[in-house]
Amino acid sequence: MGYSCGYCGRDYKTPFERGACEVKCDSEIKRQAELNKAKKRKEEKSQRYNSIQEDIKKLTEKIDAYNKDYNINLYAVYNDKTLPFRLFKF
Ligand SMILES: [Zn+2]
Repeated sequence: MGYSCGYCGRDYKTPFERGACEVKCDSEIKRQAELNKAKKRKEEKSQRYNSIQEDIKKLTEKIDAYNKDYNINLYAVYNDKTLPFRLFKF
């Protein structure tokens, strides 16, 4: 009767060999989880960046339309930490 790894199910002749496999499998599972977490975070970062870019584009379009309709030169400026965007007139 053999000893099988609780993770991958491979059979071994001794509990020591099985234990070694379980340690290896356990660290591999943790390593994969870390990689997945990093990958997910990277994807989320990219999506949020794109979302910000999209919002800036929409804001720019809104301001352009406003300026056109009221013959005015309003523009958004990145200003400070408390209220990052402010509208100014020329
Ligand atoms: Zn294993």
